[in-house]
Amino acid sequence: SLSDRLQGTFDKLRGKGRLTEDDINSAMREIRMALLEADVNYRVVKTFVSACKEKCMTSEVLDSLTPAQNVVMIVLDQLTKLLGSTESKLVLAQNRTPNVIMLVGLQGSGKTTAAAKLAYLLKGQGHSPLLAACDTHRPAAADQLQTLGNEISVPVFRGDGKDAVAVARDSIQEAVDHLNDIVIVDTAGRLQVDEEMMQEAVDIKSAVKPDQILMVVDAMTGQDIVNVVREFAERVDFDGVIMSKLDGDARGGGALSVREVTGKPIKFVSMGEKPDSLEVFHPDRMAKRILGMGDVYGIIEQAQKVADEKQVEDAERMLLEGFTMDDYLGQLQQIRKMGGLQKMIGMLPGGERMLQQAGNQADESQLTKVESIIRSMTKEERKKPKKINGQRRKRIAAGSGHTVQDVNQVLKQWDQMNKMMGKMRQMTQVSPKGKKKG
Ligand code: GDP
Ligand code: MG
Repeated sequence: SLSDRLQGTFDKLRGKGRLTEDDINSAMREIRMALLEADVNYRVVKTFVSACKEKCMTSEVLDSLTPAQNVVMIVLDQLTKLLGSTESKLVLAQNRTPNVIMLVGLQGSGKTTAAAKLAYLLKGQGHSPLLAACDTHRPAAADQLQTLGNEISVPVFRGDGKDAVAVARDSIQEAVDHLNDIVIVDTAGRLQVDEEMMQEAVDIKSAVKPDQILMVVDAMTGQDIVNVVREFAERVDFDGVIMSKLDGDARGGGALSVREVTGKPIKFVSMGEKPDSLEVFHPDRMAKRILGMGDVYGIIEQAQKVADEKQVEDAERMLLEGFTMDDYLGQLQQIRKMGGLQKMIGMLPGGERMLQQAGNQADESQLTKVESIIRSMTKEERKKPKKINGQRRKRIAAGSGHTVQDVNQVLKQWDQMNKMMGKMRQMTQVSPKGKKKG
């Protein structure tokens, strides 16, 4: 993946200590290749790499004590800029009820799914959304929205199910009648940019005058993404992007081009099929994720959802000071509460790779096994897992009802996690007292 490639490049630099211009040149070549292979638009790549190179080729960087670190920070900084620098919130009009949010995009891009997720997110913020089923072309489209709406207890307006513009227009009155303060308009897409689709989107737009039009873009789309997005920008125009399917393999390639090419901000990312998997887009976090630096803030934020302040402090201490088997145990329990072990591990630097190695088998029974093994360790062993020798391994295996191999596996996993924590500590600039960014 892109992250793996970039991480490899940085590892090489770090192994070198002092850097020469040649080192920088070859690193930049590798970055360039990695980005191109991840389907980032070639113009975007060109601008990006030359900006990075210019910043790296200064004596300040080359003569510094930690040049590799500086290069990584420069690339991170440029990447964050490319992604839009600051987070771009959904703008709702204060003096209009209902607010109207319209979703556009190609068929299969994830509009209907995103409509439901957005409704779920807004509902969680105390709004009372209404979903309008304006994809009247495919008979199953309204049913799909209805099913999703039922799941999250958000009403769906279907109107006569025939004329998309009429359904959109009538949904506004429906919202007024039922005191819904936001209407989310789901629209039809085509497999490719198509005149009829564009015209319909334009007609719906002029009928309901949306406060926000969001284009849903599938992160797995390759180079073509640039043309599609540009076309929508010219015909319908939109205020921001929802990047969908970021839980797939294509991490970031498309996202990197979209902002640069259209100037439109990415507002949300969609990371799965569940209703709660829509997240506000943070360029800095995304950049870190692309560089394989892990999403420290994301992890802490996830933790915050379920944990009290004390637990958050623990999480931070763990990231900053390395961690013991007890921390590992505590974390497993946290992960359990948070759900989505894979998602959490995927956020850690090198986590993707680890998941692949583990054959994506980090499941519930695995969790239980690891827990029982750690519980069979003494206090001392949990603090200093490196001291667990062969004899101790046998004892722990017997005590927990698992094999020595299983115990070895846990120790190995702990070792990997411990190394990752160390790496994350080096790469992220979280200070012990520093507060998380909002
Ligand atoms: P639409 O045609 O634009 O309305 O697209 P849909 O919302 O129907 O989504 C098309 C397919 O992609 C469906 O099978 C969705 O479940 C799936 N999908 C949508 N968003 C995501 C996402 O963020 N992650 C994953 N893995 N699948 C998604
Ligand atoms: Mg749809």
